[in-house]
Amino acid sequence: MEKLQFERPAIKRIETGMPSKFGMRSTTQIISDIDNVLIKDIIKDYGSPCFIISEKTIRDTYQDAYRAFSTKYPKVQFAWSYKTNYLNAVCKVYHSEGSWAEVVSGFEYDKAIANGVEPTKIIFNGPDKSVQDLTKAIKNGSLIHIDHFDELYSIIELTGTISERPKVAIRVNMDTGIFPQWTRFGFNYENGEAWDALNRIMVSGKIDLIGLHSHIGTYVMIASAYGVAATKLADLASQLYIKYNHVIKYIDMGGGFASKNTLKGAYLPGTDTTPSFDEYANSITSALLRSAIKPENLPTLILETGRALIDDAGSIAGTVLANKRLADGTKTMILDVGVNMLFTSFWYDHKITPAQSFSHHTEITKMYGPLCMNIDVIRESIEFPLLKKGDNFVISRIGAYNMTQWMQFITLRPNIVMIDLKGNVNIVRKAETMNNVSANEIIPEHLK
Ligand SMILES: *Cc1c(COP(=O)(O)O)cnc(C)c1O
Repeated sequence: MEKLQFERPAIKRIETGMPSKFGMRSTTQIISDIDNVLIKDIIKDYGSPCFIISEKTIRDTYQDAYRAFSTKYPKVQFAWSYKTNYLNAVCKVYHSEGSWAEVVSGFEYDKAIANGVEPTKIIFNGPDKSVQDLTKAIKNGSLIHIDHFDELYSIIELTGTISERPKVAIRVNMDTGIFPQWTRFGFNYENGEAWDALNRIMVSGKIDLIGLHSHIGTYVMIASAYGVAATKLADLASQLYIKYNHVIKYIDMGGGFASKNTLKGAYLPGTDTTPSFDEYANSITSALLRSAIKPENLPTLILETGRALIDDAGSIAGTVLANKRLADGTKTMILDVGVNMLFTSFWYDHKITPAQSFSHHTEITKMYGPLCMNIDVIRESIEFPLLKKGDNFVISRIGAYNMTQWMQFITLRPNIVMIDLKGNVNIVRKAETMNNVSANEIIPEHLK
């Protein structure tokens, strides 16, 4: 039997805690491996901290989502949201599962091309497309989702000099009953702007209107909001059919499905409250099927789900740097993972788990990152076992947005590894070095 660890006794105020209607739960279990690869070994070989991506979880989650939609609707296509995680290895896994690419900048567009995505399977969203971006996308036959009238007019102008016909959709924003309502992107449905844009495209005679798009928000917990959005897009499609006898090829419902993360301040954990893919799929596909669109004209349903597909597949393993008590007695723990590489800790209470055995003595703990910066707090308050300096932990469900929204600040970004289906560990992004960070700097002559 392993010798038990010694723990210094501490006097602790009894906290009654916040029981939910299911009662109190103690959920701390060890995570000593991911897909059977030991966390200790990953840290030994690739350093601490280290991002870990599970290819199996990506594929399993994708297949679950695809099944939820394809069993309820005849034509379904996913497009991977690049900004959610544009590591090439991650994108390639989605493309190999059949996903198209959804990009929101010229840089992401070029990344998708470099990843071998056929240009006709790239959806180009976002308010910032330069004339060069638009020209490239039109010549390549990519799907351009128009965000505002100025962009529409640029495209109409370009048709004067480019022989290829632009393939476009418009992004539509609308009231779906959720708050806040995102109206900054696309054309508004309720005030008639969307219908106005569609008429301008149709009468221009030079543009192929092939789709309708909406992306109503992110981390949307109310599945029925998507049904409202799908009904409004289907209504626009029906109006186009009545007025122009025009059939659109696809309706793109965007992304925004919630992942199982727990928002700060939420009463119950996200694992208990997040709608399933089936609930989102029911809401969307019922709305399309009961709309006035004729069965032979049913558009392909495109989904640009980001966070709900990738969050569970990403983890970061790290090491405890120190334990410390604040002047008021609060127990704190300093981790080598800071908010510079874990951007989502600003809005989620991330799940943090010890990576080795621990005793059942727990205490309310505040977790800091390693930055010399007051905002560097990973968890405000977590009931946590007493880990020692040098012990390891795993932060789970961090696959979405961290590996793109991270910032180079104070420390260098660490290695990212992907565990493949055979259990091999592949490095998919090398840790940064001082040279990577300084390479683009130029020292003026007089300071040399
Ligand atoms: C960010 C984004 C997505 C992905 O959103 P998630 O909330 O991660 O699912 C999809 N479509 C568009 C247009 C986006 O901007």
